[in-house]
Amino acid sequence: MSGFAQELDARVYVAGHRGLVGSAIVRALKARGYRNLILRTSAELDLRDSAAVASFFEKERPDYVFLAAAKVGGILANSTYPAQFIYDNLMIQANVIHAAYRQAVRKLLFLGSSCIYPKHAPQPMKEEYLLTGPLEPTNEPYAVAKIAGIKLCQAYNRQYGTRFISLMPTNLYGPNDNFDLETAHVIPALIRKFDTAKEEGAPYVTVWGTGTPRREFLHVDDLAAACLFLMAHYDENEPINVGTGEDLPIAELAAMIKEVVGYRGEIVYDRSKPDGTPRKLLDVTRIRSLGWRPEIDLEEGLRDTYAWYRRHLAGGA
Ligand code: GDP
Repeated sequence: MSGFAQELDARVYVAGHRGLVGSAIVRALKARGYRNLILRTSAELDLRDSAAVASFFEKERPDYVFLAAAKVGGILANSTYPAQFIYDNLMIQANVIHAAYRQAVRKLLFLGSSCIYPKHAPQPMKEEYLLTGPLEPTNEPYAVAKIAGIKLCQAYNRQYGTRFISLMPTNLYGPNDNFDLETAHVIPALIRKFDTAKEEGAPYVTVWGTGTPRREFLHVDDLAAACLFLMAHYDENEPINVGTGEDLPIAELAAMIKEVVGYRGEIVYDRSKPDGTPRKLLDVTRIRSLGWRPEIDLEEGLRDTYAWYRRHLAGGA
């Protein structure tokens, strides 16, 4: 038998294995019994260095590659370091994708992002909306790099017959997320705020904006399961969305996190802070039709993430 799902001896390189996504992919691969994982920290291998990446691939000869390495960050980081966001991401993906082609890697999975869709795309967002309108200006350098990554995969497939697939995850959360209040996304930020308020007996917690914007959230272990599923079962040139297909208002999310943390005080909305886009939801028809759906519901995922936060970061973070 051949095929990724059966090849537990295959040499599998996970680029970015310390990040939110890469670490979840490694957990999933280990849980399924993959024995030959190839992992390098950014200190051991600078993926922006073409020569270093080429010689790493020549020596290690991976069979499969999960390309989860990227420079990521919230709105503040994106607006402070736009050059690094476009340069680092372009270099990382060009080097890894080209080396994967040169070393005849059997299949590569590239991780895009839902922020690559046009700012005013109709909701829920279908895969074919890519490149149909202007991007959100605040993360345009990042988004342009990610779009180039998808186009690299497609161009190599067309010209060289490679099997490089791209997937677009919705907003993710889970263990190893960024809990720094300045740069965190809403779930880790609120987990930390409610936990700190509970510890300190504070009377209220501040939630940004009006609480009315709607967002979709996927636990990163579900994303990792989707990555393994698509590595085994998806071979199309078009990118594929990965999400739950469901969203909820930030106010409902805040109430759930408050409950999970066990905080008894009030929630106060700070309307001087931005709401951002009113709604961001992926159309997941394509992945559903292949037979994949997420398994971790939001409340269970929040409990798991809060437990991880308590074990690793609470108090000293
Ligand atoms: P977005 O999906 O790109 O807008 O990223 P975020 O996860 O940063 O924000 C999602 C929504 O949560 C926005 O409407 C924010 O205003 C709202 N929000 C409420 N409280 C917070 C908070 O403490 N931190 C963050 N990052 N967002 C918050």
